[in-house]
Amino acid sequence: MSDTLKTRLATDLIHAGRIRTNLDENGEALFLTSGFTYESADMAEAVFANQVEHFQYSRFANPTVSMLEARLAKIEGAEACRATATGMAAVHSAIMCGLKAGSRVVASRALFGSCHWIISTLLPQYGMESVFVDGADMDAWKAALSQPTALVLLESPSNPMLDIVDLRAVSELAHAAGAIVVVDNVFATPLLQKPLELGADVVVYSTTKHMDGQGRVLGGAVLSSKKWIEEVFQPFFRNTGPSLSAFNAWVILKGLETLHLRVKAQSDSAEAIAQFLDGQPKIKRALYPTLASFPQRELAMRQMSGGGTLVTFELEGGKEEAFRLMNAFRVITISNNLGDTKSLATHPATTTHMKIGAEERAKLGITDGTIRLSVGLEDVQDLTDDLTRALERV
Ligand SMILES: *Cc1c(COP(=O)(O)O)cnc(C)c1O
Repeated sequence: MSDTLKTRLATDLIHAGRIRTNLDENGEALFLTSGFTYESADMAEAVFANQVEHFQYSRFANPTVSMLEARLAKIEGAEACRATATGMAAVHSAIMCGLKAGSRVVASRALFGSCHWIISTLLPQYGMESVFVDGADMDAWKAALSQPTALVLLESPSNPMLDIVDLRAVSELAHAAGAIVVVDNVFATPLLQKPLELGADVVVYSTTKHMDGQGRVLGGAVLSSKKWIEEVFQPFFRNTGPSLSAFNAWVILKGLETLHLRVKAQSDSAEAIAQFLDGQPKIKRALYPTLASFPQRELAMRQMSGGGTLVTFELEGGKEEAFRLMNAFRVITISNNLGDTKSLATHPATTTHMKIGAEERAKLGITDGTIRLSVGLEDVQDLTDDLTRALERV
């Protein structure tokens, strides 16, 4: 398909970025090769001098990985993409590539555990200043961004409490402070939220989640302008080596072909389950961006085109009740992953958010009765039956 043909999302998820060799294969080729060869020493010299475009070494670029990068760039509406070995490799390299000792970083407090660790623990080890704010509090953003800042990191909706950050307003404040804005868009997926259109500069993904979506391989992606990727990100990426394997890229390419169908079906089920949980006597509160009772519903609907595949709820009671509920599930599985075809329940306080400590959990609103449910592709009636059955055990 030529690059000039204007096509739509479902088509792009299947065809964008395809490289077809002269063998005319239909499926994307899996280039399991670490390096590439040159027909002459003169050619090798020209390639290394950037006079000729040619693959060199799979740490820098690989054709299967390049197909994934081009496809992700197309569906995100970004000029450029680099795929990484994991979501954390994407977050880490997107943050570190442009910072130096003395840099100031402002982040929303409600971050994925490892992202929180990078900001709170790693950056200060390199002489950088880290500031956390409550992502929903615009006055806190204003105060934090009233002095020169290098980078803003945020996640919206956040894990696991689905806090929403006003991407447009925060991007404006960040740019005025001289910062670039990095958005971890895992929960929304590129289908439900486009941070670059709302003012962000860089979008990061764990492609482990919805993009593979079938629990098979780890991966990540960084998307931004061609200029930032080439000038700021690529030197760091090429020399530090967080590259994605060709095999994982190939699996994720296959995952992308059905991404829109899975995210749509899983989001529809998640919304139905959120509505079901919202009225239950043993549930203190259910959180889902499109619920009438969701505190930031208006903002969520302004910047997202759907609520996503995750529902978080809080049981009356604490850890004992939460464990009793989870242990009674027969269709839903206990796991810390998300975005999978299988519905997965997580108890954040004792798993994904254990290490941040009780005090930080309290600030985030994560209680011992909080459960995060990543809604899968099972029949939604079987899922609500499972929840009904399990709630009877609480
Ligand atoms: C899973 C996840 C990550 C990390 O991705 P990995 O592929 O596990 O390294 C980062 N941010 C969010 C929001 C995630 O859900």
